[in-house]
Amino acid sequence: MSLIVQKYGGSSVSDAESIKRVAKRIVETRKAGNDVVVAVSAMGDTTDELLDLAHAVTPMPAPRELDMLLSAGERISMALLAMAIKSLGHEARSFTGSQAGMITDARHGSARIVDVTPVRLREALDEGAIAIVAGFQGFNRDTKDITTLGRGGSDTTAVALAAALDADVCEIYTDVDGIFTADPRVVPRARKIDRITSEEMLELAANGAKVLYIRAVEYARRHGVTLHVRSSFNNNEGTIVYNPSENPAEGLPTESENAVEEPLIAGVATDLGEAKITVVGVPDIPGKAAQIFNLVAKTGANIDMIVQNVSAASTGLTDISFTLPKTEGQTVLTALRADQSDVGFASLQYDDQIGKLALVGAGMRTNAGVSARLFTALYEAGINIEMISTSEIRISVVTRADTINDALRVVHTAFGLDGDTEAVVHGGTGR
Ligand code: ASP
Ligand code: MG
Repeated sequence: MSLIVQKYGGSSVSDAESIKRVAKRIVETRKAGNDVVVAVSAMGDTTDELLDLAHAVTPMPAPRELDMLLSAGERISMALLAMAIKSLGHEARSFTGSQAGMITDARHGSARIVDVTPVRLREALDEGAIAIVAGFQGFNRDTKDITTLGRGGSDTTAVALAAALDADVCEIYTDVDGIFTADPRVVPRARKIDRITSEEMLELAANGAKVLYIRAVEYARRHGVTLHVRSSFNNNEGTIVYNPSENPAEGLPTESENAVEEPLIAGVATDLGEAKITVVGVPDIPGKAAQIFNLVAKTGANIDMIVQNVSAASTGLTDISFTLPKTEGQTVLTALRADQSDVGFASLQYDDQIGKLALVGAGMRTNAGVSARLFTALYEAGINIEMISTSEIRISVVTRADTINDALRVVHTAFGLDGDTEAVVHGGTGR
């Protein structure tokens, strides 16, 4: 008998009909002889609506109360789903995050899972029931309060349950068919990826792919959980995300086999959520970069690419540019301005019209010429590159925001990723 953890996103349980449809699917999995644990998101846009409601009451909702409110969204769907399953003649029991043993730190709104003690889930399974768990929420032992894991946190709930229960697979049900080589709404010939390593998936998620949340992928990678990302609207096989160095699931290649078999490039992601700050006229002497990035670090901003220009010999001054999420832009500018005379730079430039493209593939480790091919494709399309950064398995470039979709299409073609047919897009959001 296998143990399967399934996660259903908000778009899969958006109304009563959808909940009944999902209930049938869960029952089928159970009837096939599996133990089933389900993590469920709030129905449709419930979380956004609850957030709006809170902000209509007060501009600064108390974090503890906001978590109480938001965690209610998942409780609604878990109870409805359990009822729907019971009405199909199968035993089901719903559990809040704290009942399911999701122990977190005390950070309201972005809590981290520190322990999972699924005692009650095991009991339910032993008694033949299907266990339904409210996603996105946990409990802190010190404050004894309810916490939430941050937007999209139900993915992490599912993965953490799969790890704690030693599940055979963690199925992530969404409204798209899996993970694609590029966003099929922009690249019609994007292909569904059959399998991808968690390392590659991490890079794609960190660079704008929205199907899976980065924290869930990280958790899965660290705990050796194999994910199957698939649509809840059909029975097609989706995408397997796995860690080849950590007991690969049956039928999946190991690390050494992987190196021979895997395609050079897994996929291409783009991100329009970043901005670029340029610190102009920085004295080119030791300690200046340290000073600037200590100021940035104090704001808690997550910076991504950094470029320092060669300094003009006559002035001894240089420019340093870096990218960061647009949402952090103003905070960081304010922090830098406050210490301008201390650091001694001339001025600041802020540019929020940039786009970032990331080409990801484990095959880059062993293949030369990937950057050359990428830059040539962009050159032939007349697209200017403003910044470049690389990791072992990724090359990222920054271009103007309004050229990013063209960039995505030409790069996708240049690396032979185009499929023979157009991808079927169900109008899904990927959540
Ligand atoms: N309901 C939460 C959100 O919309 C958590 C989730 O869906 O995973 O962010
Ligand atoms: Mg949601």
